Amino acid sequence: MASPNHYDVIIIGTGAGGGTLLHRLAPSGKRILVLERGDYVPREKANWDSRAVNVEAKHHTKEVWHDQDGKPLHSHTNCYVGGNTKFYGAALFRLRERDFGEIRHHGGISPAWPITYGDLEPYYTKAEHLYEVHGTRGRIRRWATCRSSASSMRSRCRRAHRH
Ligand SMILES: Cc1cc2nc3c(=O)[nH]c(=O)nc-3n(C[C@H](O)[C@H](O)[C@H](O)COP(=O)(O)OP(=O)(O)OC[C@H]3O[C@@H](n4cnc5c(N)ncnc54)[C@H](O)[C@@H]3O)c2cc1C
Repeated sequence: MASPNHYDVIIIGTGAGGGTLLHRLAPSGKRILVLERGDYVPREKANWDSRAVNVEAKHHTKEVWHDQDGKPLHSHTNCYVGGNTKFYGAALFRLRERDFGEIRHHGGISPAWPITYGDLEPYYTKAEHLYEVHGTRGRIRRWATCRSSASSMRSRCRRAHRH
């Protein structure tokens, strides 16, 4: 019998990253441990008040972090089950093909990624299905990217408009 303290996979954090990984791995039958440093978000009326949540930062961690020079900084982060993804704006973008290449900024060069947009495209598509991303692509031509599932996104959008 497997030790109760043995896990095949340990996922740290329960936001979009950890949660998506868990969703993908759960049917595999592997023993999975999910660690989350935060508690559940307390259910309160003010959670529906964007001023309290976003401007007054009701749920932000009160921890003080320090920058590389030892100066204190506020991390603007929420540590709860669900992570910052409990509070985020739900706008899910793809990077463009050229964002993976070397980019020259005023402040210096951002080196090319070791992978390309094409490597990630199938996973963008799976994630967009999981998160029911919808909208019309390509309105702004210079932002348009090659997608393998444009038609399903469009039809989902049409269905949404009919209701
Ligand atoms: C107000 C707001 C609006 C946003 N809007 C958008 C948006 O529209 N679109 C977008 O793409 N992004 C948005 N973001 C950014 C967004 O939060 C991230 O893109 C996304 O939620 C990150 O997911 P994640 O899983 O990487 O991290 P998180 O959701 O932050 O989850 C990380 C989790 O790990 C836990 N954790 C960290 N360290 C440890 C540890 N050592 N042990 C155990 N647990 C640990 C944390 O407590 C947290 O729960 C927004 C963020 C905020 C705050």
